[in-house]
Amino acid sequence: MDAKKIIWVMPFDPSNHKPETEGQARRCGWHGTNEGIPCGEEPFASVKFRYSDFQPVYSACKRAVREISARYGFPIPPDH
Ligand SMILES: [Zn+2]
Repeated sequence: MDAKKIIWVMPFDPSNHKPETEGQARRCGWHGTNEGIPCGEEPFASVKFRYSDFQPVYSACKRAVREISARYGFPIPPDH
């Protein structure tokens, strides 16, 4: 069972992300940190998750947003 839930999805902004994260460095943290696959694509959205014990905000490239949307179901934010 997957315990993750999505709290919010916003257009990518480095200020949504904590220091020392890939989001702050304008890299895709969904593929990099979460899936362990370094990703060269630009972040498109910031996505906040709720786990049982912490609430990370991942930066997500367009491909990641589509994957997350397919897995968890949420509307993809419009291009900006
Ligand atoms: Zn990515």
